[in-house]
Amino acid sequence: MTVTWATYEAEYFDRSEPYVQGAIVLDQEIAPRAGWSAPIRAGHVLTLVDVGGNQSGDCLIYDASDHDVRYSAQATLAAQRNAYLVDGSVLRDQEGAALMTVVGNEVERQDTIGGACSKESNTLRYGHHTLFHHACRENFLLEGAKHGLGPRDLVSNINWFMNVPVEADGTLGIVDGMSAPGKRVALRAERDVLVVISNCPQVNNPCNDFNPTPLRVIVTDPAVAA
Ligand SMILES: [Zn+2]
Repeated sequence: MTVTWATYEAEYFDRSEPYVQGAIVLDQEIAPRAGWSAPIRAGHVLTLVDVGGNQSGDCLIYDASDHDVRYSAQATLAAQRNAYLVDGSVLRDQEGAALMTVVGNEVERQDTIGGACSKESNTLRYGHHTLFHHACRENFLLEGAKHGLGPRDLVSNINWFMNVPVEADGTLGIVDGMSAPGKRVALRAERDVLVVISNCPQVNNPCNDFNPTPLRVIVTDPAVAA
């Protein structure tokens, strides 16, 4: 395989700006296949950048002070009466209260139905030889362990930048992405939250273009000038 410098530039060098300006609180890359987590203060805005394009960022959100209060895909979709996450979507906990709000979105629609990949689902879908492929569930467990989270705390997640169309008959697809290098989604914390992200390692379906690439997380405080 011939790799040109332009390929590296597209996949690994990101010059994106935070979606909402303010003092930079945190600016980190999530390496391909790696997990990431951080507490985000109420009012701060997390910009997630799809550095290489079509890279799924599997995401879970918890109340920072009570991890039993966590993101609910069911409550979120029922309240907004839309199967996709879009600009303005309020990400809700299981009681319907707001955890974060999508305040910027450069992809047509974002998924919260497709779920996270796991060794178990990989072997079921793609064969026993995939048992040893690293997966999002492992990233969630590894990152979650830093905060006292375990398997019981893993719930239906968000898949930023993953294209999961819901067909007219209700079936789901995991198909070629519609994101692109540098596309962003921005989330404002409505209270202090803990965000856990798995930079999806999946190579058995097109959710990462069969080529896991980095994500970037920029957290800004809009109340303080940049
Ligand atoms: Zn995954």
